[in-house]
Amino acid sequence: MQNTATPTHCPYCALQCGMNLTPVPGGTVEVSERADFPVNRGALCGKGRTAPAVLSSRVRLTSPLVRSEGTLVPATWDEALDRVAEGLRRTRAEHGPDAVGVFGGGGLTNEKAYTLGKFARVVLGTSQIDYNGRFCMSSAAAAGTKAFGLDRGLPFPLEDIPRTGCVILVGSNLAETMPPSLRFFNELKENGGTLIVVDPRRTKTAEQADLHLAPRPGTDLALALGLLHLVVAEGRVDEEYVAGRTVGWEDARAAAMAHWPEYVERITGVSVPQLREAVRLFCEPENAMVLTARGPEQQSKGTDTVGAWINLCLATGRAGRPLSGYGCLTGQGNGQGGREHGQKADQLPGYRKLDDPAARRHVAEVWGVDPDSLPGPGRSAYELLDALGGDVRALLLMGSNPVVSAPGAGHVEERFKALDFLVVCDIVLSETAGHADVVLPVTQWAEESGTTTNLEGRVLLRRRAITPPDGVRSDLEVMHELADRLGVEKGFPTDPEEVFEELRRASAGGIADYSGITYRRLAEEDGVFWPCPQDAAGDGHPGTPRLFLDRFATPDGRARFVPVSHRAIAEEPDAEYPVLLTTGRVVAQYQSGAQTRRVDELNAAAPGPFVELHPRLAARLGAAEGDPVAVVSRRGRAVAPARITTAIRPDTVFMPFHWPGEGRANTLTNPALDPTSRMPEFKACAVRLEAVKS
Ligand code: SF4
Repeated sequence: MQNTATPTHCPYCALQCGMNLTPVPGGTVEVSERADFPVNRGALCGKGRTAPAVLSSRVRLTSPLVRSEGTLVPATWDEALDRVAEGLRRTRAEHGPDAVGVFGGGGLTNEKAYTLGKFARVVLGTSQIDYNGRFCMSSAAAAGTKAFGLDRGLPFPLEDIPRTGCVILVGSNLAETMPPSLRFFNELKENGGTLIVVDPRRTKTAEQADLHLAPRPGTDLALALGLLHLVVAEGRVDEEYVAGRTVGWEDARAAAMAHWPEYVERITGVSVPQLREAVRLFCEPENAMVLTARGPEQQSKGTDTVGAWINLCLATGRAGRPLSGYGCLTGQGNGQGGREHGQKADQLPGYRKLDDPAARRHVAEVWGVDPDSLPGPGRSAYELLDALGGDVRALLLMGSNPVVSAPGAGHVEERFKALDFLVVCDIVLSETAGHADVVLPVTQWAEESGTTTNLEGRVLLRRRAITPPDGVRSDLEVMHELADRLGVEKGFPTDPEEVFEELRRASAGGIADYSGITYRRLAEEDGVFWPCPQDAAGDGHPGTPRLFLDRFATPDGRARFVPVSHRAIAEEPDAEYPVLLTTGRVVAQYQSGAQTRRVDELNAAAPGPFVELHPRLAARLGAAEGDPVAVVSRRGRAVAPARITTAIRPDTVFMPFHWPGEGRANTLTNPALDPTSRMPEFKACAVRLEAVKS
């Protein structure tokens, strides 16, 4: 056992806070402050502080489980891996390679995400791979790629935020999702800058804003268009910038001019004076930023919604300049890296496109396979889940719990039940793992090394701090063993650094070029920002903290305006379902709760779901604080206690989505997909409320 502290990073969100881990008796570690890491300077939220509790959780899996006569029972690793190999081989033989699906996660390290993508395409030969990051930020990724030619969550470090003049934070409740990041916004205000928060709820983050705009859920596309309209009408367009660094302004301008302020007020509920004030605050300083998160992105028009906010930045010259820009606040721990290296349905490592012949040739050469043997793009995450038990007969699932986190979760759970064969790699028996034929217990963050890429595009090294318990293996070991059993004896190393060395070569020359990054550098530096190509002298490239300062990543170096117009959400309220539901997170739980629901301290702080509703709505329902309330959508019914507050619009209710059971919020949500990003519409659907007699 090492006794010295190991500097590493939190297992949870995309901030990837730095922390030190010191082994303590009982197979776990103690967390201590790591003040030298610039993102959090020692600060941690409760999730990060208590993360070691999951290492020694009494419900942690330390033996493989196989289904026998309907029940999951312990098995040896050889028995379990043989069963998996046989199940995958049989499915392929009977139904073809695309009958085997693979579903990954935004929490997997770069090495795991890379290996999972390679495993799917080289060992299984399937096109059917995607990951839960599709639910997280894919609309921002699509919009950023359209506008700038490149998607990296933030094109600048967080430390730039305090030095800009104004930030519009759209659909992000950082006070609950990433509390240490609030420091940057507090410093912004101390420096005289202003914070505008766009959120249907008066969240803890919105309470700190200089201006809070509370649009009706699903109308922030119209809101952004209304702001752009006013920018034009008030003569605030940066004409020189638009002429010199962009294309497509005339069409975007025409679309914005069709969204006059009074019309936008009717759509959004945000008053014209508030719109004017937002434009003033955003345009008066020399620099400003727009940051979006799940609010605008998790919509069936998420790509257009983010595009509208990018258009606002471009028209005002707030992109590709120091201390100005558009950024997406990626959510999951490796949501950024997870979308760069091949576990997404349409991607190869280095953010290469699977349908690009040159990209296929490059990656196939690194993998030592024929480019023609690589399958083409597959289905997006929800479409893949929806196909389970249909033409997808078997699934390998790693680092995800869709039975809680997917939209329309009741339907998704039925699809899992319809599979012929399900394999889940996890640390606990999650709600999804409970349906598996084989469950493989895997190592956790403190027990293995690997890299992640945080929301700034900063590649980081998570270091192993303790020895894993007997009975668990790493995901890399699982894929190595399965590849071997399925006839691919080489190319699936178990050492993360060896995988990273291959990833460097596979990413070389791609958009997300990691070829100049090494474990040695990551051990010595505060992370390295991609793109970081390998220069002629070796690995001396400094990395790229700030993107687009000279040119955008488009063929002509100019950013693209994309003309967009307001449209309704997929499911507007009506007489039968008259209220809007929006969903989100609370500070003490993380995503589907598979990890955080095992931590006593976090459960004490956030023990279960609730329905947040306005007093007027509660009065109409006859519900008092704490009364059980049923929320019913076209997809199902969830019941949770009422939490009555004026912090939410009277036409909207909010539920956090961390819990299974009768309070599972995703039973209700709408899987309507954005046509470009294939992101489901988690953020707005029509529901009705019913009082529940207790
Ligand atoms: Fe971990 Fe995110 Fe909390 Fe930081 S903010 S401690 S990365 S969960």
